[in-house]
Amino acid sequence: MTSAPIFDASVSVLRRALDEKEISSVELASLFLDRIEAFDSGLNAFITVDRDRALAEARSADARIARNEAGPLTGIPLAHKDVFCTEGILTTCASRMLSNFVSPYDAHVVSLLKQAGAVSLGKTNLDEFAMGSSCETSYYGPVINPWKPGTVAGGSSGGSAAAVAARLVPIATGTDTGGSVRQPAAFCGITGIKPTYGLVSRYGTIACASSLDQGGAFGASAEDCALLLSSMTGFDTRDSTSLDRPVEDYAAIVGASAPDAARPLGGLTIGVPRDFFSTGLNDEIRTTVENALAQYRALGATLRDIDLPNVRLAVPAYYVIAMAEASSNLTRFDGVRYGHRAAEYTDLVDMYCKSRSEGFGAEVQRRILTGTFVLSHGYYDAYYLQAQKLRRLITSDFERAFAECDLIASPTSPATAWALGAMSDDPVQMYLGDIYTSPVNLAGLPGLSHPCGFNAAGLPIGLQLIGNYFSEARLLTAAHRFQQITDWHLRRPPVA
Ligand code: GLN
Repeated sequence: MTSAPIFDASVSVLRRALDEKEISSVELASLFLDRIEAFDSGLNAFITVDRDRALAEARSADARIARNEAGPLTGIPLAHKDVFCTEGILTTCASRMLSNFVSPYDAHVVSLLKQAGAVSLGKTNLDEFAMGSSCETSYYGPVINPWKPGTVAGGSSGGSAAAVAARLVPIATGTDTGGSVRQPAAFCGITGIKPTYGLVSRYGTIACASSLDQGGAFGASAEDCALLLSSMTGFDTRDSTSLDRPVEDYAAIVGASAPDAARPLGGLTIGVPRDFFSTGLNDEIRTTVENALAQYRALGATLRDIDLPNVRLAVPAYYVIAMAEASSNLTRFDGVRYGHRAAEYTDLVDMYCKSRSEGFGAEVQRRILTGTFVLSHGYYDAYYLQAQKLRRLITSDFERAFAECDLIASPTSPATAWALGAMSDDPVQMYLGDIYTSPVNLAGLPGLSHPCGFNAAGLPIGLQLIGNYFSEARLLTAAHRFQQITDWHLRRPPVA
């Protein structure tokens, strides 16, 4: 290892520095808080930063380290996407509707990470209510991609992705309903994993589309993601879809040495859905991902063409289901119990209408209207039910594919980060960008994105790996092997 600046270090290097008392958790938190202060005005990755709270958490982490009771994340700074409820500080979902909302409790993920001793620096920006692919619909303004001013960070967890990419924080949480961890990870040149549906409790995670939402992890590398994810999973009785299975130590699995050092991925079959590489895919992305697949072959993996015939219908199915669920989930924001309430109204119905019209932005309103429409009498069968049937067919495609391969590889997104505003007038064009990520949520499978190169404009390109249920360790290990022979994950954007 060269003497890279400490803010650039991996979580395991930070761990060692903390344990060997080369740096205290308070010093580490201060260093990242100072970076946020210096650079976030250009990125807008954070909605809330709470220095005092962070330093108080860091002090108790230092005490724990001094007692030799530190776990893997004790004293490590992180940030939470602002959909995770955090007791005592704002949880806004990047919406005017919740711009005054302070949660009385912590999300399960937040309390697990607190128990682990991680130090939360603040809450990151996102598309309003996690609806979007660019982080431009935030009430707090768009997130800027650290790789290029004037470019989107991806979405909806773009604030977390941009913050990790610019090293304003080493690791961060996100949520992924149709790609919101993987796509911003790809746009910002970092690694992000969305686990199997049910692995991470959704308790206290403000819902976008409940049957698709899943908490996930961002880090510079698969190793960092493994460390974070291990501390986010675990059965929770408060989420009826939480799965009761033993917590895995992904970091230990990823860190174990391969039995065959010359072919560390020997025996692994990677399915390549050829359709994913044809229509609508930008040439630079195709070539870059294909070159990365050649590296996987060099690591010993076998590549095999596979067919996912129904996946081309994933985007319409996803948007019908996601909007239907969102329209139902968002009925709770009525201006009565919490959240924004219009200043003036004539009666109760007028208060609902004005509060919701003022509180929600255009994209959220579009989804509530469309979602209500597809669920309404006379249209339910034609849209919602059809979409559920497609969901079943897409899930069966994956089941068949995993009978002949261990992982599936594809581009993460058909495009790299675009210029701010470039897609704002064409929501359908933006929706179509979820073609490679949304089928994974429809099937409830785990998926990961890692950087695999850059386009001519210097913007990062991501490769997506999809695994069978509960194959997080396999996904992270494969990405880690790739990162052992490449340095894309070590490249940093031009932020000082
Ligand atoms: N881009 C997708 C959407 O707009 C995914 C969002 C997400 O995963 N939260 O719905």
